[in-house]
Amino acid sequence: MNQQPRALLTMPRFSLAKLPTPIDELPRLAQELGGPQLLVKRDDLTGLATGGNKTRKLEFLIADAQQKNATVLITAGGPQSNHCRQTAAAAAIAGLDCHLVLGGPRQPPTGNLLLDELLGATIHWTPKLQRNARMSELAAAMEADGQRPYVIPVGGSNSIGALGYVAAMFELVEQLHEQARQVDRLFFATSSGGTQAGIVLGATLAGFAGRITAVSIDQTPDDSSEEKFLAGVCSVANGAAELLGAHQRLRESDFDVNYAYLGAGYGVVGPLERDTVKLVARTEGLLTGPVYTARAFGAMLDQIRRGDFAPQETWLFWHTGDETALHAYAADLTPL
Ligand SMILES: *Cc1c(COP(=O)(O)O)cnc(C)c1O
Repeated sequence: MNQQPRALLTMPRFSLAKLPTPIDELPRLAQELGGPQLLVKRDDLTGLATGGNKTRKLEFLIADAQQKNATVLITAGGPQSNHCRQTAAAAAIAGLDCHLVLGGPRQPPTGNLLLDELLGATIHWTPKLQRNARMSELAAAMEADGQRPYVIPVGGSNSIGALGYVAAMFELVEQLHEQARQVDRLFFATSSGGTQAGIVLGATLAGFAGRITAVSIDQTPDDSSEEKFLAGVCSVANGAAELLGAHQRLRESDFDVNYAYLGAGYGVVGPLERDTVKLVARTEGLLTGPVYTARAFGAMLDQIRRGDFAPQETWLFWHTGDETALHAYAADLTPL
């Protein structure tokens, strides 16, 4: 177990998360599958308008916004974005205004979108491919109006946000050490890549020895080739290493991404997600969300069903928290 870099401990951080999040066992599910021992890291319990992986990123992003004397946050995502929901909540806590650019078409307020509105965010509908341009336009208009906007990229996935998952990896390694556990494989959902960048860099710095597999949830048109996606993740990770004054640098070959579970695309709930939501809920009383965690969890279960494990292994699923979207997908989850 390695020490956290001093720069990570002293980095400006706005407290939002309830840490450490617990590691729970999933014994009934493991027994039903006849697979490896299964653990879940409960980042659905981070707090911040329920919880999720964006809480850890936002601790560093909000601190940076405050250092820059920002008065308003701007970010973007899909209509059911967990990142937007959590950014709206963080803005409320930090006393900042929040503008969300959501990829249209406009939807009725349910799931995360309902929560965005309740949390007081101003919503701007835009075609998906124009989200970044719309964020820049909004920022320019606000500046001209004397406000101080702070733009957070989609998913909070820049090097500052990724620090949240560098710190999270140190947290995990310390918990495993205290609990005298070893984890052979770790699975989680990747999309904009900041979580993955932080986890893989954090694993290198903290000395985590297990294999880390990120399950791709979507391929957006602008990163439709695997190489391009990984180039982005790699540069976010290396930017984070630089912020920490760490000498380590990662290469694309250091990242393991599974692109085999994209189904019919981002946010399209298919049998994998539907069956996983129900199985995990009914065996363990644990909720997974339709867009991210059920897909990634389902991918992990598929590997187990294919017999791709050794009997003594322990696998850990890193729950990134998206059950608030379930209601918006009720129709896709039936028959119940
Ligand atoms: C955003 C999100 C992810 C993916 O994290 P990235 O850092 O964008 O790759 C995974 N799970 C959930 C629930 C999310 O909201």
